[in-house]
Amino acid sequence: MALAGGFSSTEEGAGPGATFDCQSCGACCSYSSEWPRFSTEDDVQLDRIPQKYVAADESGMRCDGVRCSALSGEVGKSTACGIYDLRPDVCRSCMPGGDDCLLARRAHGLPTSDPALLACPSPGPLVDTCAR
Ligand code: SF4
Ligand code: SF4
Repeated sequence: MALAGGFSSTEEGAGPGATFDCQSCGACCSYSSEWPRFSTEDDVQLDRIPQKYVAADESGMRCDGVRCSALSGEVGKSTACGIYDLRPDVCRSCMPGGDDCLLARRAHGLPTSDPALLACPSPGPLVDTCAR
């Protein structure tokens, strides 16, 4: 649900320095219809979200199955949020490398280890942080 361009994070979960590219992921936007719920938004914020993306009961984003209707593209390859600047607060709080991110990525079979660490050529001084 983050889906910013080139987000990177040091949130817990994927280890220090974890980096994931949200625009080539989108897993958290296609994980559960229960995730993109409205919570702390005010009426002004909610009124700016196009009605076609809002659930019939107005409790959150409209989903097609587990996938948010505002998500475009192919999960794990190239994705975008159609209302990025207007997205709900829950989407803003899902950070790359955090627990929710890793849960969603795992469900889609996407790597949950820091790609930079996976690229570590050999153990050595970095053995404590290198993933292989
Ligand atoms: S509103 Fe945007 S960021 Fe939030 S779940 Fe939908 S596609 Fe993802
Ligand atoms: S699952 Fe993680 S990496 Fe993927 S879009 Fe969401 S926050 Fe970004």
